[in-house]
Amino acid sequence: MQLLKELCEAPGIPGREQAIINIMKRELKKNTDKVYVDEMGNVIGFKKGEAKKPLKVMIAGHMDEIGFIVSHIDKDGFIRFNPRGGHIPRTLVSQRVKIYGKKTLIGVVEGSPFFLAPPDARKKIPELKDLFIDTGLKEKKLKKIINIGDIIVLDRNFIEQGDICIAKAFDDRIACYIILETMKRLGKVNADIYAVGTSQEEVGIRGAFTSAKNLNPDFGIAVDITGSFDIPGVSEHEQVTKLGEGVAIKINDSCSISNHGIVEFMKKLAKKNKIKFQMEILPFGGTDAGAMQRSGKGPVCTLSIPTRYGHSPSEMVHKKDVEATIELLIKFIEECEKCKLEF
Ligand SMILES: [Zn+2]
Repeated sequence: MQLLKELCEAPGIPGREQAIINIMKRELKKNTDKVYVDEMGNVIGFKKGEAKKPLKVMIAGHMDEIGFIVSHIDKDGFIRFNPRGGHIPRTLVSQRVKIYGKKTLIGVVEGSPFFLAPPDARKKIPELKDLFIDTGLKEKKLKKIINIGDIIVLDRNFIEQGDICIAKAFDDRIACYIILETMKRLGKVNADIYAVGTSQEEVGIRGAFTSAKNLNPDFGIAVDITGSFDIPGVSEHEQVTKLGEGVAIKINDSCSISNHGIVEFMKKLAKKNKIKFQMEILPFGGTDAGAMQRSGKGPVCTLSIPTRYGHSPSEMVHKKDVEATIELLIKFIEECEKCKLEF
């Protein structure tokens, strides 16, 4: 779990993934034949297959997390910011953030003062454009440390509580961890494996588009979080997945349709190997599979990690779901030549 903690606590917003690239490179070097970073900042770990004509399997998990960049510092030292990725404004008020300038500073995200607001305004959820960041430092001192364009991420430590983990950025560092762990455990395999930490997913699956185009895999498997809405007030049919009920095999979301043959093969593998799984249909969202479906040969599937409170400072996953995802991914890689595409 030390590696997962390191991955989650490191900062890496779309287009500024260097800290995560460094970790991925370091770890992939231990268990692949070749590691390189492409022109879009995707990290690719290549493991050569044993077959005469090996199939190509691309496994993709995105390295970026949602965050911000500094867009303005006013004369009183308050920072305005631009989002990189889709934020839920109500999760941001009163949160602490880290601003990575010449030094790392802690700031507080705030809006207009609650106690000064008339009763009606108190019920309103502030919009992103009305929020600012306060470090307590005055303009002159602040500008010596922070520049326009510096990156900002939520300030949250990784927490382990029995089988439950809570952190920022499980979306999608949990997949980075799963991919690294999968490569660590894999023995000799028939297929060529491309383990890819993708860039810029949160702003429109950009890194996966270019890497899938370059690699042109026979199978594209994305690993990403999905919603677990198994919480008070949500009807059973809208819960999408349940925490702790196993890896979720995605049928579709609003951005990709998993190949029916791959979905059925994943189900068969999970049953045969007694890996706990659940089926997932997400009525919104997308993963790197959406890009791999459009820019390579196209057959894709996503293995999802059920996650409560996605895109918030406190995302929550279950260790047994993480383990089930690793086990199913390994089985797929080992037996992928038996997988038949269906339509
Ligand atoms: Zn994601």
